[in-house]
Amino acid sequence: MIGLRRTKIVVTLGPATDDPAVFDRMVQEGADVARINASHGTQADHLRRLEQVRAAARRADRSIGVLMDLGGPKIRIEGFRDGPVRLEEGRSFTLDTALAPKAGTVDEVGVAYQDLPRDVSAGDALLLADGQVVLDVVAVNGTRIECRVRLGGELSDRKGLNRQGGGISAPALSEKDKDDIRFGAEQGIDYIAVSFARDASDISRARAMVRSAGGAARIVAKIERQEAITNLAGIIDAADAVMVARGDLGVEMGYAELTGLQKTIIYESRLRNRVVITATQMMESMIQNPVPTRAEVSDVANAVMDGTDAVMLSAETAMGRYPIKAVRAMADVIEGAEKYELTHTSTRHRVEKVFAGSEEAIAMAVMYTANHMKVRAIVALTETGATPLFMSRIRADIPIYAFTGHEATRGRVTLYRGVYPVIFDVGAATTERLYHSIFARLLDLRLVERGDLVILTKGEQSGVEGGTNSMQILKVALD
Ligand code: PGA
Ligand code: MN
Repeated sequence: MIGLRRTKIVVTLGPATDDPAVFDRMVQEGADVARINASHGTQADHLRRLEQVRAAARRADRSIGVLMDLGGPKIRIEGFRDGPVRLEEGRSFTLDTALAPKAGTVDEVGVAYQDLPRDVSAGDALLLADGQVVLDVVAVNGTRIECRVRLGGELSDRKGLNRQGGGISAPALSEKDKDDIRFGAEQGIDYIAVSFARDASDISRARAMVRSAGGAARIVAKIERQEAITNLAGIIDAADAVMVARGDLGVEMGYAELTGLQKTIIYESRLRNRVVITATQMMESMIQNPVPTRAEVSDVANAVMDGTDAVMLSAETAMGRYPIKAVRAMADVIEGAEKYELTHTSTRHRVEKVFAGSEEAIAMAVMYTANHMKVRAIVALTETGATPLFMSRIRADIPIYAFTGHEATRGRVTLYRGVYPVIFDVGAATTERLYHSIFARLLDLRLVERGDLVILTKGEQSGVEGGTNSMQILKVALD
């Protein structure tokens, strides 16, 4: 069933979603896109989860998009000899790229990333475990980075390490990422997310790898390091979608910057006709608790009001105690928020704009009309989803149905705000018959009633990409 909620929900898969009965319920409660986190597990695990998503989508008679999130060059400390250690404020602690992987103690720990001593210098602040432990670099001697503990705390094996202010030179695509890209391309995954992307070239490299592996996956740029903020416009233009990756971004930029950055990234993404996901810690307390905090409710609602296409659940679904309730809570908050936002957030930037092509022009004409007439639905006959994407960049509360025979297009549009995929084969019908079958499909799905007005967009020839060049206002009738 296609609901009224416009903002989409991305759920991360993990041990807590592996029971098909649990995942089926998450789909019923409104999961739109499933995220496979390539930082954890093997390709065999990813394949098993992918098949589970596809089986659940078939059972629910719905399209569920799939996003594979690459591990990227996340720098991690190695392990400790006798389990976790507690670092005391003011003490010395050394990171050593020559230390054996399991040889860590309360005085030192290994780091696999060999270039780290070159990338940091005295005076830098290093944040471990998402900022729970902070080290000040005192000196660098060969492989040893000597630090003083500024903020003490517990440290366990393989915790992440960031430099405040960014500037660590590891390339965004590791060898493992390249292998995972091939896997994702071969499996027909809809979106591949590039972690720690620095600039547009990281995105175009990932795209080239997907294409050479024969895939059509769209590329998501995760904005989570300082360089990505510096190169924001270029990275957004190079990508198809953007993720406000608040976990690492908050660590690199300092969390006080996050809210402003989130609003900026969402605004810039929509402006540039890109899709945007807001991610991390949205319902964090629901890992343990069956209800969200008021602050979490407010955070999700504000992301919706900022204009995000999708909000994301991470550990809440992957390893939380209440994955079903987390999806439910998110869906409820979104619906609540969407009742309030509309007119006061519309931007006027497109009024002055020259459109890139006929699809964008048609899409803008449709949305203008839809916002000024009593129209019940927009139906876009689409090959690639390009016209519905342009439409969904304009705020409106009229649903956009992407009618398409292509499974990949249906998977792709699951992420677009206000766009709902509908299976539809245009065939070689005459115009009269085409209208008839569109109306029949809409009525069958109970999306409209007889007498309602709908706007239809299509190209001259069906089956041709990029051909949308007309819009029609039609009254639903069956005769
Ligand atoms: P991650 O990315 O969960 O893969 O680290 C999202 C983030 O950093 O917010
Ligand atoms: Mn991250």
